[in-house]
Amino acid sequence: MKKKIAVLGSTGSVGTQTLKCCKRLGYEVSVLAANQNVGLLEQQVRKFSPRSVVISNKSAYREMKRRLADTGVQLLAGMDGLCEAAAFPENDIVVNSLVGMVGLRPTLAALEAKKNVALANKETMVAGGALVTGLAKKNHVKILPVDSEHSAIFQCLCCGQRDAVKKVLLTCSGGPFLGKTASELEKVTTEQALCHPNWSMGQKITVDSATLMNKGLEFIEAMWLFSLQPEQIEIVVHPQSIIHSAVEFQDGAVIAQLGLPDMQIPIQYALTWPDRYPIKGESLSLTDCGKLTFIEPDYRAFACLRHCRRAADKGGLYPCAVNSANEQAVSLFLAGKIGFGDIGRSVGYVLDGLHCKEEDTYTLTEVLDTAETARQMVLEYCKTSPE
Ligand code: MG
Repeated sequence: MKKKIAVLGSTGSVGTQTLKCCKRLGYEVSVLAANQNVGLLEQQVRKFSPRSVVISNKSAYREMKRRLADTGVQLLAGMDGLCEAAAFPENDIVVNSLVGMVGLRPTLAALEAKKNVALANKETMVAGGALVTGLAKKNHVKILPVDSEHSAIFQCLCCGQRDAVKKVLLTCSGGPFLGKTASELEKVTTEQALCHPNWSMGQKITVDSATLMNKGLEFIEAMWLFSLQPEQIEIVVHPQSIIHSAVEFQDGAVIAQLGLPDMQIPIQYALTWPDRYPIKGESLSLTDCGKLTFIEPDYRAFACLRHCRRAADKGGLYPCAVNSANEQAVSLFLAGKIGFGDIGRSVGYVLDGLHCKEEDTYTLTEVLDTAETARQMVLEYCKTSPE
């Protein structure tokens, strides 16, 4: 079956690889959406001829309009445009690879329109997991994980009944600063943080991988995607990124999913599920891999991971608060305004200082308000911190 795919966040790392998958599979692209990379977006429009294009940064609208003048493609803008395009009736799957919790409303719009969502935008699940999973359940639509670890868990879960699951082993590469102490991490530069050993990704997720915030977000994402309690998820540092995660069943059988660290595999599986299609490329050679190693994460050195674990235990809107605190802190770090250690301190400051609802019965307005308050708190904290 030739599916029609809407790609939100088409110019990013997951977005461009999604388009490669679409091309290989012969799937049509119904929507392309990007924040502001007008040059690449234009190239994609000419190659994939979607029905609509969304430029989410409104200041880039005029430039995009000029570039697409000869194409006849519908151009939408901003958050309203993203939500409108996510809900188009012809979409079979909406791939959400937007960065940050701006992805939440388009995800909800897609689910509201009864569209399956291939989710790479983990912040959506962290900030509004109850809304997202509740709506998917109500409308009988699927959330297909694109994140490599969650795709692995999703695949491993096929091997047993849901009530036979004992726990999930969420693997973590450890990022570029594996083994560093908290005081060594203070001296890390932006350039060092942007250099990941195994995966090539956008700036925000690369910094999140360096602080291990990414693993903390993935922990919460896994809770929502697979209805797990925090004590059912164990994070295991596995620097080779060959085992993408595993599931232990009640009988002691542990099923793991392995593969080379290549995002094409989880992206394509989300698009073709439950079918599998060939991808040309290298096969995994276990003998070439040599030794696979596993260690416990260092919660002391990696404050963001510790804070996410605490937020996961607290529940309610605490995960939303830590996520937005991190989004704000990372943008300050990338702008050179705060140090690497300040990211974790900012997240901790919000977690300790902001009183949030602890029930999972929140509304979208409450999510957006919490997010905004958390951002403001980080801006104030970073202004007054003695750094
Ligand atoms: Mg991941």
